[in-house]
Amino acid sequence: MDSSVQESQQAIREEVRKLCQAYPDAYWQEVDKKELYPQEFVDALTRSGYLAALIPEEYGGAGLGITEASIILEEINRSGGNSTACHAQMYTMGTLLRHGSEEQKRRYLPSIAQGELRLQAFAVTEPNAGSETTRIETRAVRKGDRYIVNGQKIFISRVKQSDLMLLLARTTPYEELKDKTQGISVFLMDLRDVKGHLEVQPLDIMLNHHTNTVFFEDVEVPASNLIGEEGKGFRYIIDGWNAERILVAAEAIGDGRWFVERASRYASNRVVFGRPIGANQGIQFPIAKAYAHVEAADLMRFEAAAKYDRKEKCGAEANMAKLLASEASWEAADVCMSTYGGYGFARDYDVERKFRETRLFVAAPVSNNMVLAFLGQNVLGMPKSY
Ligand SMILES: Cc1cc2nc3c(=O)[nH]c(=O)nc-3n(C[C@H](O)[C@H](O)[C@H](O)COP(=O)(O)OP(=O)(O)OC[C@H]3O[C@@H](n4cnc5c(N)ncnc54)[C@H](O)[C@@H]3O)c2cc1C
Repeated sequence: MDSSVQESQQAIREEVRKLCQAYPDAYWQEVDKKELYPQEFVDALTRSGYLAALIPEEYGGAGLGITEASIILEEINRSGGNSTACHAQMYTMGTLLRHGSEEQKRRYLPSIAQGELRLQAFAVTEPNAGSETTRIETRAVRKGDRYIVNGQKIFISRVKQSDLMLLLARTTPYEELKDKTQGISVFLMDLRDVKGHLEVQPLDIMLNHHTNTVFFEDVEVPASNLIGEEGKGFRYIIDGWNAERILVAAEAIGDGRWFVERASRYASNRVVFGRPIGANQGIQFPIAKAYAHVEAADLMRFEAAAKYDRKEKCGAEANMAKLLASEASWEAADVCMSTYGGYGFARDYDVERKFRETRLFVAAPVSNNMVLAFLGQNVLGMPKSY
């Protein structure tokens, strides 16, 4: 890699690290305990321009690649913070950039880049569809110059912290189609001025994630907010999956490094039976192994990101990076808990919080079984299970 590129990536890493120092453990503990949204942190990240990393410069963003975006999210988690509070804008950006019209980009991107508009919600999952996205039942029916949306979504995060939500809905019913991947459309729903009835019910879950069930009753979306062509939305969402998987991998790696650093430090200082617990191989080796797995996953993450930024095919690498990084960070989390003994369960040490937070990456935004199915079927050519 060009050394000037390496230097600029290192500079981004250091600047984000510096920004995160203003939001130490105590900040994230408080936010977690009170189930608050880390508004001050997200505002600071927005002001720094890093949240708009993927928005091209012509629309007021930083115009960076997925490699740099992934470094930003990694550093937030590595600092002890929680990147999931604001990752969705980066996850969804590809769909808007690649498939949105020029008019839509001019209408929304500069305000998103400025932090005047928040695009932090992405509504795909439904109770009756789960991982089988083509089974979604939320319907959008065109009536003149608008679509009327009815249905239900589940686990939709940050709806109350967003002005805009990317919504996936069926515009042609499943039963009427031979190719079930057709007939799904993507909309950019403006949450500031909803016409119709939109009900957002918070879900009580094991981490501070602001996720909700959302009910749509005759909610109107102007036809001008349809992204791309009607019925092609499933393809647009799939196009964004590689970026999403690379970003998730980086978030998990940030967590993994945090766990390894904390565990090694604690193991070196905590003295029991007259010596640091880290001198015992039962403590030291699992930490060393978790470290090796996190670092190995990181190589796959950078390989995937480099290919993505060169516009090369990277489905295999992006999926492997997500799989390896989420497993490595979960392993590191478990090892860190064991290293801390009873203190791992005490909220003041942050380990149990990060433990809860990093477990998410195994299951969402896509579960690792689906990633394995992609590798088994699409990369290795084995028979399909679904
Ligand atoms: C905290 C949190 C935040 C979320 N935020 C959002 C959000 O903002 N927007 C959004 O749209 N969604 C969101 N999700 C939803 C998330 O993407 C889904 O939970 C996830 O995609 C899995 O869907 P499901 O829960 O319905 O699991 P299911 O589809 O019911 O699957 C359950 C288990 O069975 C496995 N499984 C199913 N079929 C197969 C098969 N054929 N082979 C092997 N294994 C299989 C799955 O891999 C999984 O392990 C969020 C979830 C959580 C927990």
